[in-house]
Amino acid sequence: MKKSEQLLEHRRREMVETLQRYGIDNRRVLDAFLEVPRHLFFDAAVLELAYNDGAYPIGCGQTISQPYTVACMTTLLVERCSSGKVLEIGTGSGYQAAILDVLGYSVFTVERVVELYARAEALFKELGQHITCRFGDGSVGWAGEAPFDGIMITAGAPKEPEPLLDQLAPHGTMVIPIGDSCSQQMTVISRYENDFRKEVFQQFSFVPLVGKEGWHGTVF
Ligand code: SAM
Repeated sequence: MKKSEQLLEHRRREMVETLQRYGIDNRRVLDAFLEVPRHLFFDAAVLELAYNDGAYPIGCGQTISQPYTVACMTTLLVERCSSGKVLEIGTGSGYQAAILDVLGYSVFTVERVVELYARAEALFKELGQHITCRFGDGSVGWAGEAPFDGIMITAGAPKEPEPLLDQLAPHGTMVIPIGDSCSQQMTVISRYENDFRKEVFQQFSFVPLVGKEGWHGTVF
């Protein structure tokens, strides 16, 4: 292994140790963070920041979420839905989708910014990841591929979108940050046939979920 690769692997281990110090203890999740080369999802301009525990710009006014945020959302999903078909709304850099793919889910992801969608799709191909991508308004979900065992929304929503509740499998799990434009509470919605149970967790701060069922009512 080249020296530069060894250094990146070392930085990945340090990132995982930081996540453990913050209380992330799911071994499957931590192993996925060790496996996915986070620096490949970064802009060249901020490459050296790839393994810091921060959210950074990815272009088009959007961000790659902080590792701790990705780890929290992934753990909430993994603990309730350990396999199956997962829909992610907000592909962004593609990092969260890549983590889900390494965990063995069948991953579908939707992004509303065409440049980000195209970049992530090319990267998934390059990395040999079988992630199905779509460009469009993910606030209405992906009816043609439903039902999903898991749905993860990686942008801040004003409320849970109705079409996404409909597209959740009978025992499915949705992880979604809900709140106002400044801060959102991480929320898990579990479906039991036609009943939905809600659990709420910590506060986070995401870029907004826009679109028909998100903020502003329109995306394009
Ligand atoms: N999951 C991403 C990653 O791993 O890099 C980070 C997501 S970033 C915090 C939120 C993303 O949601 C942005 O790329 C934004 O364009 C996207 N987004 C916002 N509203 C959307 C919508 N209605 N449909 C699809 N994507 C949306």
